[in-house]
Amino acid sequence: MSFAGVAARPRGRGVRRWLVWGMPPLLLGVVLLVESAAATLLAGGLVDAPFLSGDELWEVAVLALSGVAYGELAVGVERQRRRLGGLSHIDLSSVWTFAAVLVMPGAHAALLAIVLMTHLWARAWRPWVPPYRQVFSTATVVLACLCTGALLDEMAPASAPTERPLWLVLAAMVVFMAVNTGLIAAVVAVSTPGARPVTLFGPFDENLLEVGMVCLGALTAISLALNPAGLVLVLLPLYTALRAALIRPLEAAASTDGKTGLLNAAAWVAEAERTLARTDGPVRAAGVLMLDLDHFKAINDTYGHAVGDHVLSAVAAALRGLVRAHDLVGRMGGEEFVVLLRRAAYAPRSVELESVELEVVAERIRAQVEALRFEVPTLRGALRIDTLTVSVGGAVATGSGSDLAALLQTADTALYAAKRAGRNAVRISVVSAAVSAASLAQLMPDHGPAEPARD
Ligand code: GH3
Ligand code: MG
Ligand code: MG
Repeated sequence: MSFAGVAARPRGRGVRRWLVWGMPPLLLGVVLLVESAAATLLAGGLVDAPFLSGDELWEVAVLALSGVAYGELAVGVERQRRRLGGLSHIDLSSVWTFAAVLVMPGAHAALLAIVLMTHLWARAWRPWVPPYRQVFSTATVVLACLCTGALLDEMAPASAPTERPLWLVLAAMVVFMAVNTGLIAAVVAVSTPGARPVTLFGPFDENLLEVGMVCLGALTAISLALNPAGLVLVLLPLYTALRAALIRPLEAAASTDGKTGLLNAAAWVAEAERTLARTDGPVRAAGVLMLDLDHFKAINDTYGHAVGDHVLSAVAAALRGLVRAHDLVGRMGGEEFVVLLRRAAYAPRSVELESVELEVVAERIRAQVEALRFEVPTLRGALRIDTLTVSVGGAVATGSGSDLAALLQTADTALYAAKRAGRNAVRISVVSAAVSAASLAQLMPDHGPAEPARD
């Protein structure tokens, strides 16, 4: 696992420029505490650990070689996972590490974990994972190995993996994952106060994958005790699982706008249509807001496209924070954003009340964009942005006649009215019977590509 806190590069030269010193003091303290505990306990464990017998040395060699061979097999997939998914919470080398914990003393398993994680980092993760984060992730795995080893030593000293009761193997799996995940979650909690569970622990399916890896680790240990050549049988399912792990990040990448991280136009339209088509279930569409930044071209013309891109991503982040988690926020292209507001389905409301509520949200967004203050790094130093404004057009969903094309067309007309009223304004309309259900293709001929074309 790895944690998501990003450190700012400190000033100075050599060691003083290491990213790790850019972390906030509390976070740095926790990280150094975990790392020094791992180093001290590992050193103590190695001093106390019995010398490995010939058979055990052979097992270490087989596991190390299989782990490195797997690492080489997985380099392409791992790079893709990092590129697509940013910081993954999951360390896929845990299959070998956990197998090692079951067949050798915890300290030796921890040494093997260090070798395998360093190999994967050097071959696949380096461009995405800075050394300070890799050191921390390795420290958490070292502690997981030592704690699991201590449990196994306590409950069934010096027994082979095939001799241990299943409940003990399951308990070892729980301890191994709890220490690893718990330490990462603790550091994320310190670096991001109020972080949601998915930020602390990672997405559910990534965790499921890690559980799968640890299960495979247990099978690997048993196979090693029975017949080391059987490990070849583990490599193929492992590789298949790795490739399957790419599906989710690939799906996410296909529906995400690369510049802002919001839904792209095609994904937003598909999801919005799904919401509008759903007549049962706990949520209904309340309306659509269309937003267009005012005089955005001037920012590009004055400061360049890179600054414009930075502004787009800052506005997108602000927008995401201004609506509720279940509202659908997308980038339609250029400097235009769109929000489908969803509400609980239980209470039928008058169109007037819906209009007022939509206007409240739209007005909040308009005011917050006007109040946005942030700095954009440029070659000529930090550029302060403090005069952004946005125009907002809204369309109230009325149940009948609220197909997406009509809603978008109504919101677009309202947006145009807000622009004509002098910009930095909000206009809300209700879909009129006169609005034909124009096809989406006519309304947004370019809503297909993930990356909208520039001018
Ligand atoms: P108005 O207040 O009427 O909306 O004026 P405007 O300047 O915001 O609108 P206009 O449509 O004239 O210009 C939109 C600009 O958005 C033009 C183009 O340079 C810029 N743009 C479109 N896509 C991108 C992008 O991905 N990145 C950047 N930096 N600029 C973009
Ligand atoms: Mg525009
Ligand atoms: Mg504009």
